Amino acid sequence: MTRPEPPADQSLASIESRMRDAGEWLQLEDGVIENLIAPRRVLEVSIPVRLDDGTRVRFTGWRVLHNITRGPGKGGIRYHPSVSRDETVSLAAAMSLKTALMNLPLGGAKGGVALDPKLLSMRELERVTRRYVSEIFGFLGPDKDVPAPDVGTNAQVMAWVMDQYSIGIGHAVPGVVTGKPLALGGSLGRDSATGRGVVEAALLVCQANGTSLEGKRIVIQGFGNVGMWAARLAAGWGARIVGISDVGGVIASEKGIDIDALVHATQRGVGSVVDAGIGEVIARGIERSTDVFGLPSDIAMPCALGGAVDVREAGLMTAKYVIEGANGPLTPGADAVLNERGVIIVPDIFANAGGVTCSYLEQCQNFAHLQWDEDEVNASVVATMRAAFKRLHEFSTENHLTYRAAASVLGVKALADAHHLRGLHP
Ligand code: GLU
Repeated sequence: MTRPEPPADQSLASIESRMRDAGEWLQLEDGVIENLIAPRRVLEVSIPVRLDDGTRVRFTGWRVLHNITRGPGKGGIRYHPSVSRDETVSLAAAMSLKTALMNLPLGGAKGGVALDPKLLSMRELERVTRRYVSEIFGFLGPDKDVPAPDVGTNAQVMAWVMDQYSIGIGHAVPGVVTGKPLALGGSLGRDSATGRGVVEAALLVCQANGTSLEGKRIVIQGFGNVGMWAARLAAGWGARIVGISDVGGVIASEKGIDIDALVHATQRGVGSVVDAGIGEVIARGIERSTDVFGLPSDIAMPCALGGAVDVREAGLMTAKYVIEGANGPLTPGADAVLNERGVIIVPDIFANAGGVTCSYLEQCQNFAHLQWDEDEVNASVVATMRAAFKRLHEFSTENHLTYRAAASVLGVKALADAHHLRGLHP
């Protein structure tokens, strides 16, 4: 979280126009693309909650089922002050494209509550979560819609979702949610999966360009779950993490930041990377945190919030490759600037798909009442990323499309094909 989100309708307008362009490219028959763009169902719910001091407050939440043609809705629950209807619809649409591009038998959904989780106690967060789940209860289920963690939520929140849903059904239903704790049927490897996928995306795009990750200078925006795992795993491949930023500012080290020490410090409760005493603090404060992109680097990984990289940040950026760890981190303006400069952008719906891929594997384990070992899960996430990249790379090369355009076309095509096969009711 390094900048406020752009006006929410900007991200919605941008995914809608990407889908429309893909529809035109595919020459879909009239009206089909508008059906694919429109969310299937948008639930807006009021969440009254009693705070620990006895006062009563009200939050607004949403759950959007965007596309459920290829399988149950799938997508995270976000707790953040900027959550809105339009933002949730745009993130749900991105999930529809993501699961379609990855060839997972799932649809696209997203949910969220407009609140700042840092301002609530654990017990307050639990009450918000339980009330939110009870408001959307009838639309959730392993075959209907399956939430997961997203910005501001975690395995504990998923445990409350699972419990609240299970109480309503009358027995334990682990498959209603993914990203839950291991003890409740969660999957080994889920925690690291999104970051693992981001690093795999970087490896694959380097390989496709005749190079490797070894010795590459990487800058990472965001040191939450995605950024932290991306940093750890990229360092394991011999890359140098030369800059990291979070809400507190930016740290840098030309030799490479000691990621293990930084992870240790944050696990000890250091609030921001700038307070860890590691590397050199080159900027302080949320407004300066995008300065990380100005550091000399080969690869940039925006792993914070949507809209964090606008034209100004794109102008600063020195990297040749951008791997979108967050959902929608580049504004359309930034995308245009970077494309113009020949920067290779690996889009979010592929680059951060390791998370939902592992969620799918978690569901498979739940349905089969099995627990796979971590190596097996990680290998399966990586294999799915590789197969999808092969399709993406070949399609983009054959058709002279950017990876972003190619990913949108492949995603929309999978959705349109499924729609045609099922036909229109009635
Ligand atoms: N919130 C993650 C995403 O945006 C994961 C979704 C999921 O696992 O369902 O892809």
